[in-house]
Formats: sequence, structure tokens, C-alpha cells
Amino acid sequence: MTHFICVTCGTQYAATEREPEGCPVCLDERQYVGHGGQEWTTMEEYRKTHKNVFHEEEPDLHSVLPQPKAGIGQRAFVVRTNEGNVLWDCVPPLDGATVEAVERLGGLAAIAVSHPHYYTTVVEWSHAFGKVPVHIHENDAKWVMRPDDVVKVWGGDTRPLLGGLTLVKTGGHFDGFQVLHWPAGAAGKGVLLSGDQPYVCQDRKWVSFMWSYPNLIPLGPAAIRRVVKSLEPFAFDRLYGAFPGQVVVADAKAAVERSADRYVRRIGG
Ligand SMILES: [Zn+2]
Ligand SMILES: [Zn+2]
Repeated sequence: MTHFICVTCGTQYAATEREPEGCPVCLDERQYVGHGGQEWTTMEEYRKTHKNVFHEEEPDLHSVLPQPKAGIGQRAFVVRTNEGNVLWDCVPPLDGATVEAVERLGGLAAIAVSHPHYYTTVVEWSHAFGKVPVHIHENDAKWVMRPDDVVKVWGGDTRPLLGGLTLVKTGGHFDGFQVLHWPAGAAGKGVLLSGDQPYVCQDRKWVSFMWSYPNLIPLGPAAIRRVVKSLEPFAFDRLYGAFPGQVVVADAKAAVERSADRYVRRIGG
């Protein structure tokens, strides 16, 4: 029995004798099946072809980026707090060197993932760090392709984690989309870890909002307003997105608000 992994999105599946019929994550309108057709890999293969590169983004925040690109190409983050560390989002490859590097940062106390595109091999990550809980929003529970006791679903609008961290459900790109607020980040001015919503634009004073990024399907005005409203109670000056180089260095909350206004104006809402 093998836990097959979809090459295009990095989602790992419950163990089967043979490769799954298809990948529901890629068959969904928000993603796509690889241009060469559905392909599968395994963690054993990743260990031969990939490694994870760590980078200190700011004090107590380290990004984890697979090289070469794995799945969708996102990075994960280790957020350090005085009550333990949280892995924010996830990347598909995981090897001994990665576990050692995370242990040197103090290990993990919990994991949280913004949305199903980054669930990837999160159960393997949890098991490698003593079966720490994996927090996802109940609205996206149906997208968990490798069910396991470590996956903990929560409901409602916010969920406090350890060390002052808070998960905030924004909805939008996915019904259960969540972001992570880290108040101690940016030298105490606050950081938002957003995954791919809000999405940091090439002009990094701006962010954007899409229902599908690869297929360029926009979010509607009501959903965009809900994202902004859900972030209202939280102070943050800096925002990190899922992909390398994606950071709004300062004044990020105002950037989110003005970006939402611009977007809604452009779509005529
Ligand atoms: Zn897939
Ligand atoms: Zn996504």
C-alpha cells in the first residue's frame, strides 16, 4: 500500500494498492490537471529528487521552500513563539534533513494550513513531529484526502493558537480559507501570513483576491469585502504570501484595504 502524491498539486492520498483514479483537488475548477495528464509520485521519490531550503525571513520566522519546485510551488513557514512553534502551510517533500532543521529551530507544537491547495503531505509532517495537531477550518474538511486523527477541524470565525497566534477564517478562495495572525512579528507591529489570499502582487504595495489563481477566475465584491472585514480586528504591518519574494514589508493592512477598493472598482461592484 502506498500513499500516492499528485505531482501537480502535491496532495497526498490515503494508502492504496494502485494509483488513485484522479485528483479531486486538480479536477476542481480552481486548479488544473497537469498538461501531460495526471501523474503521481511518492515521498520516497521526493527524497531522491528534492530538498527543502530554509531562509530566515525575519527574527522567529523561517520559510521552507522545496528545490526544485514541488506541487504548486508554495513555501511553508516555521513561526517561533515562547509557547512553541507552529508550521504555517505545508510543502510536499519531507526528509530527515528537514526534520533536523526544524528541530534545531525548536521543533513543532502545532500545524495550520491556509487551504486545501497546501494540505499536501501535512499528515506526514505531523507524524514526524510527534503527531502534533493540524488545524484546518471545518468548511474545508471534505478536502482532506488523507484522513488522520491528527487533523483537528474548528468552526466559527477565529481560533486562538499558542503564543498569541490566531487563525482567522476569511472564506473567499475556499469556504474555509484561514490566515494566521502573528502579533509579535514585524518587531511587534504584527504580521499576517496569508497563503494565497490576500495574494501579494508583483507591485508589492498591493495585494489581490481570486477564486482561482491559475484559471484567473475573480472573487466577487461581497466575498472580497468579507475578507477585509474578517481582518479588521487584527493589527498587522507586514504580510507574507505563499510564494518566494511575496511580502508587503510595511503598512500591509492599509494595502489590503486599498487593494480591495481598487479591485471592486475594476470589476464594477
Ligand atoms: Zn492534484
Ligand atoms: Zn489556492
